[in-house]
Amino acid sequence: MKFRAAVLRQPRTPITIETIEATGLQPNDVLVKVAAAGLCHTDLEVIEGQLVYPMPIVLGHETAGVIEDVGSAVDRKRIGERVVLSWNPHCGHCFHCERDQPILCETYIGHGPQAVQIDGATRLRLDGEPLRTMFYIAGFAEYAIVTDACAIAMPADMPLDRACLIGCGVMTGVGAALNIAKLGYGESVMVIGCGAVGLSSIQGARLAGATTIVAVDRNKERLALARTMGATHTATVPEDDAVAIARGATAGRGVDCVLESAGNSAAFRLSAEACRTGGQIVWLGKTGVNEDVAFRWGALMGEKRIVRSSYGGARPNRDFPMLARAYLDGTLNLDAFVSRHIKLEEINDGFEDLRAGRGIRSVIMF
Ligand SMILES: [Zn+2]
Ligand SMILES: [Zn+2]
Repeated sequence: MKFRAAVLRQPRTPITIETIEATGLQPNDVLVKVAAAGLCHTDLEVIEGQLVYPMPIVLGHETAGVIEDVGSAVDRKRIGERVVLSWNPHCGHCFHCERDQPILCETYIGHGPQAVQIDGATRLRLDGEPLRTMFYIAGFAEYAIVTDACAIAMPADMPLDRACLIGCGVMTGVGAALNIAKLGYGESVMVIGCGAVGLSSIQGARLAGATTIVAVDRNKERLALARTMGATHTATVPEDDAVAIARGATAGRGVDCVLESAGNSAAFRLSAEACRTGGQIVWLGKTGVNEDVAFRWGALMGEKRIVRSSYGGARPNRDFPMLARAYLDGTLNLDAFVSRHIKLEEINDGFEDLRAGRGIRSVIMF
């Protein structure tokens, strides 16, 4: 079949809209007619060449749609299901899968850098040549072919332009609070960076029962939004002393937990300084893999636990329906994340907004 997709041929060049070709479905594949796809920072890292993939490639990994067809091994009853796509297919039986760490699955990690499907093959072609698939999804296209286990059913009343956000940013942020930090009632938390992931962390902390939530960002508008999502204190950096604000809210100790999603050296350093002794730090942001980050050693002392997480400990079959339910119940605000609906043709514009920090999320509507 043929359909339109946004194709990146080289880093730091504009994405172009092309008609591409897909091969037939393999037994475990599902064909999803894409309804909505969010623009995430990780896509931008590929465009800017910080994250290196073979090209040409179709980006996009925050995607929701409707199953239109299934491979021979998939239950045909799934046709017509509204789904959000997970970007972490995993084998279920390797060293890390057996240790409940699907994000480190050997097959997943092994095929990831080649930007192919989990079976090692591509499904997409451009002008007869193989076309790569970002994060096993390639969501910036009219159709996505994914492995059955990555298409997670949504409630029938879940709007798909909200649902798509669950597939990456929301899962990562809420999951950091609930699955990784396992926050409890009455705990104190600092969230550094108030983009989609950070605002989700704030809401995850609130859902867990945290009673002190200090939001940190450079942008005052984002901090105002953070207040509406559960932040009890805010610090505008660099002008405010975020550590002093955290200590002022916690009898001088520092917060029980820091959830970082800004991805720069100052943020990583702040996370260590603001955490109380015996507390925990979860890093969600990232900097260049070959860059060094310096710390004041004393800030790392005192039995602090530091974890780096990519996907908030996601177990999509368990977590995606829970997040959709929280949205439908009115306890998880996703509406404020969608700053702009755009057409596929406006994708370069959307990434320009993301680069400049305008709005929270642009969502492509098909
Ligand atoms: Zn993402
Ligand atoms: Zn595995």
